[in-house]
Amino acid sequence: MSANNPADAHMPDEDFKELGARFLDWITRYLDGVEQMPVGPNVEPGDVRAALPVSPPETPEDLAEVFADIDQVVVPGLTHWQHPGWFAYFPCNHSYPSVLGELLCAGLGIQGMLWSTSPACTEVESLMMDWMLEALGLPERFRTAPIDDPRGHCTGGGVIQDTASSATLCALIAARDRATDGAAGRDGLAGCPPLVAYTSEHAHSSIEKACGVAGIGRKALRVIETDDEHRLRPDRLAEAMAADRAAGRVPFFVCSTVGTTASGAIDPTAAIAEVTREHGAWLHLDGAMYGVAAICPEHRWVIEGAEHCDSICINAHKWLFTNFDCDFFWVADRQALVHSLGIMPEYLRNQATEAGKVIDYRDWQIPLGRRFRALKVWFVLRHYGLENLRNLVREHIAMTHEFADMVDADEYLVRVSPNPLSIACIAHRDGDDATQRVMEIANDTGRVRLSHAKLKDQYVIRVAIGQSRTTLKHVHDLHAILREAAREVTTPA
Ligand code: PLP
Repeated sequence: MSANNPADAHMPDEDFKELGARFLDWITRYLDGVEQMPVGPNVEPGDVRAALPVSPPETPEDLAEVFADIDQVVVPGLTHWQHPGWFAYFPCNHSYPSVLGELLCAGLGIQGMLWSTSPACTEVESLMMDWMLEALGLPERFRTAPIDDPRGHCTGGGVIQDTASSATLCALIAARDRATDGAAGRDGLAGCPPLVAYTSEHAHSSIEKACGVAGIGRKALRVIETDDEHRLRPDRLAEAMAADRAAGRVPFFVCSTVGTTASGAIDPTAAIAEVTREHGAWLHLDGAMYGVAAICPEHRWVIEGAEHCDSICINAHKWLFTNFDCDFFWVADRQALVHSLGIMPEYLRNQATEAGKVIDYRDWQIPLGRRFRALKVWFVLRHYGLENLRNLVREHIAMTHEFADMVDADEYLVRVSPNPLSIACIAHRDGDDATQRVMEIANDTGRVRLSHAKLKDQYVIRVAIGQSRTTLKHVHDLHAILREAAREVTTPA
């Protein structure tokens, strides 16, 4: 029955507190028990939808009843990314402080498109980007506020994006407009010389997608060969850029990957920068996965060359215990970004913006609206402190090395790529079919989840270690499962 007074339809405070406490309790029980569930769901396409009503409720229901649907319909249809047996793709690890930050973000319900629509949203975010800059040892040119002069002239700066894909798209658009003196964004690409972008054959698909979305065209992306360790070859990059230049094309964007998706390879950013600089192209560092390793001084080499980059993105939502979505994005020249993405309709005009004293983050991203993502970063940093975050990352790296040693000692499995940090690529010694079968058998146990890639045409199983709940015991269990599966599919000699 609908309420007589429409306002009576809202949930009373007491119900919210009671239900909220039950949800927090439910979440902790889910996470405590997730290990007992199969990592992957056992549902057919359409099963989940078919278990729920076809149409929305016309009259109010008791939200307390939602628990039954969550337990009986939603959870069985989930792939449990927070399971300690999660070794697929990349981790999407999270933590209670991060979940609390997300809750507060929803509770506050602000929309921080402009500084004036919630100054705290903008200023906490700028501060978090500077905290992360310090934590990762990034160059000062990316700082959002100069240390000694909070009102001084800033050239670079950082912003939180939803994903690395969005960050890369923003970088590519700014690079496109820089290369065409703004013409591409203003008038379209028709009158511009052909633009060309470059990245490694193992770079993430978001680079190609960004070329398509930005109007450059997917075919304008040159995929550069990699070396024996799957890192982009700067000599091949130099050849490709020179050939394009000689043919009247304009090399405008290069992406160096720190932690390729297939094998976790780390491109030589400093050497790539030398080549890039000769052509005046924009250099973007995609550190979506391994950029986080730079919080440990001994792993900071991964971002060597960052000082020569025009932009950098690093995902907190992969390996920094911060739930999806949260990507750190820094640019060396904030004006380049704002020239491309800034726009000022009458209805957004305000004094603070016009006085030029504030950052309006809507000009640093594609959408207008934005949530208070910085809260979860703040909570994670305050709860753990850098010291604990470093140790957790170190632990994942140490577990990966231990897993690699187990594989090296294995009679059926072989290690296919070096594992500098937290991914090991492995294969069955009998070839691709056997490797694929091993992965299927392992995944069918429901105790682990693995995914694959191709390295120089070889089918490999990727083992990505970084889930918040994964311990050495789980890594040993994984090896036992893989070993048993590998033994089962081994062709007798
Ligand atoms: N870049 C790299 C190297 C990745 O591995 C990934 C995702 O796995 C991405 C970019 C895209 O990340 P996002 O989902 O944040 O867009």
